[in-house]
Amino acid sequence: MWPRRRRASGLDARVRTGRTLLAAILIALGTAAAASALPVVAIDPGHGGADSGAVGVLAPGTVTGLEPRINAQLQPVIFEKDVNLDVANRLNAWLMARGFPTLMTRSTDNAGGDVPYTDVGTDLRARTNLANGRPAEIFVSIHQNSADTPASGTETYVRIGAPAPTQALAAAIQRSLVACLALTDRGVRERSFFVVRETTMPAVLVEGGFLSSATDVALLAQPDFRQKMAEAIGGAVWSYAGLGDPGPICSGQAAAAPAPVPAAITVARAGRALTMRAGINPRRGDLWIATVRDKAGNPVSSIPLRARLPNGKGVSVTSRPDGKALIAVPRRGGTLAVAVDMPGIKVSASAKVPGRVA
Ligand SMILES: [Zn+2]
Repeated sequence: MWPRRRRASGLDARVRTGRTLLAAILIALGTAAAASALPVVAIDPGHGGADSGAVGVLAPGTVTGLEPRINAQLQPVIFEKDVNLDVANRLNAWLMARGFPTLMTRSTDNAGGDVPYTDVGTDLRARTNLANGRPAEIFVSIHQNSADTPASGTETYVRIGAPAPTQALAAAIQRSLVACLALTDRGVRERSFFVVRETTMPAVLVEGGFLSSATDVALLAQPDFRQKMAEAIGGAVWSYAGLGDPGPICSGQAAAAPAPVPAAITVARAGRALTMRAGINPRRGDLWIATVRDKAGNPVSSIPLRARLPNGKGVSVTSRPDGKALIAVPRRGGTLAVAVDMPGIKVSASAKVPGRVA
């Protein structure tokens, strides 16, 4: 009994290994072929930084999963820029998981190119420059609408006189959005919006819903609704790229990613440009950057950190979604000590800070 069972299981294992290997080879071939053919998708989360975009008023107690915001009347509100970035991040994850090369015109609460917002012209030009420079092959700008009159629903914009491929992309996205979100179909429209006019590839601007509508804003506040919006756009991009049926695209469930565990920190002095940009007086302080990484060496985003100097007070740390934390360090000299501020996690680093400005 025993030897036969062993032989049988050995045979099973060999068959399994053979099949697994074959499957792995097929997947590798398929992925390689698909990856080279997939178009570069530029994702443009509208507004950012000092430009909030439209503002929607929320019912008290609404959980948005976004940065909490209030207006001058202390009512809870939701900013278009936050909704747009959240949908864009979800779309980016959806496309990247399927092998699409992507480009985000901003990935932080900043203007295009993740720089501080100065004015709308500079902001929009930075976005189209990024997409045209890569160059991207598909451009999707994500916005939410607002109106003084009662209005609700989904629109997709192309530039005036847009050619057939752009019209096809817009029609696919609009159809998919209406099917997933079930808001009023306001159709594909033509308008000379900067980002669809000044881009050199098929470009659309999506207005997902109206922040001025009580019904739309209640939906836009829900993370799973924003996930549906992202999947709807992703599925349409998939079909437009000639890949056929994208599979289920209205789940509203983001693929569960295992929470990355911080494993290492590096601390480095930032360049002068960052020092100036951060608004720190270069004669009195220095900007340092702590990068938190997981075991595999990938940056881990938004990890709470503690930073201190011997005798130094007011060492402030700003953790960012890109895994880099900015640390404003007074120029008193000494050792800058940085540690992860999470229970049960002992990861720290230190660096020598010069005492005087040259
Ligand atoms: Zn907008």
